[in-house]
Amino acid sequence: MGLYAMTGGATGIGAALKEQLLAAGHEVISVDIKEGDVIADLSTAEGREAAIAGIRERAPEGLEGFIACAGLPPVARPLSLIAQVNYFAVVATVEGVKDLVAMRRGTVLIVASNSAPMISREDPFVEACLAGDEAAACAHVETRDGQTAYGGSKRAITAWMRRNVVPYARAGVRMNAVAPGITQTPLSDQVMADDELGPAIQEFGKMVPWGGTAQPAQIANVMRFLLSEESDFVCGSVFFVDGGSDAMLRSDEF
Ligand code: NAD
Repeated sequence: MGLYAMTGGATGIGAALKEQLLAAGHEVISVDIKEGDVIADLSTAEGREAAIAGIRERAPEGLEGFIACAGLPPVARPLSLIAQVNYFAVVATVEGVKDLVAMRRGTVLIVASNSAPMISREDPFVEACLAGDEAAACAHVETRDGQTAYGGSKRAITAWMRRNVVPYARAGVRMNAVAPGITQTPLSDQVMADDELGPAIQEFGKMVPWGGTAQPAQIANVMRFLLSEESDFVCGSVFFVDGGSDAMLRSDEF
């Protein structure tokens, strides 16, 4: 059985994955701002350091996997929090535990979103994230709206994953991303309750080709597969788990 570390294990998709991994007999180190083995605010440099130190202390002999799941919704304010938690904290924590994962030839799994392809790679916020300039990205994102801030953060982290697949694989780390569609969690509850975004998201939910919205366990099922040895040749993939929404919007892109 394996040892996994994850961020965002307190609620939603992360909590569902944690429950499934524990049920399968694995051990899980959970990092979250709310509750978990390591309490850390990943929006700050100190919180990221505490998260990495907490994981390293509990896994001196390495990890089978690290899952970067913590994230904030488009309605989070200030918008700079979206850049900090959804992009810069992911890069910092993945890099901070990379050697632990390499020790066991393990897996990094990033939770992106099917909203990522809706934002251009050339978007200035995406560019600032990928340049590693947190101050510039945070300043720029304050000029944007919640949807492009959120989609941009997910576009950037997906591109970062793809750009780093080769060096990570050569170092002994298999890296992938999962791109969920609308999933019933506290995060999507906040979006649904928003006067501006709520009605649009509810309309979009009605258009999902396979119908409806996902339960967290449906996303976690695929994540558990991507973490398992059964997927041990899957490397660099962006795995859409969205009821066909991405294929509906971008039929010719893959
Ligand atoms: P959620 O709100 O239930 O879970 C997010 C978790 O991140 C929570 O446990 C929260 O405490 C933690 N977190 C937030 N800010 C933090 C911080 N500063 N420091 C440490 N932990 C922090 O929502 P969810 O829907 O389960 O989201 C999980 C991931 O899935 C996110 O990355 C989200 O962007 C992504 N996602 C969700 C949906 C959806 O519709 N729910 C769709 C696509 C992608």
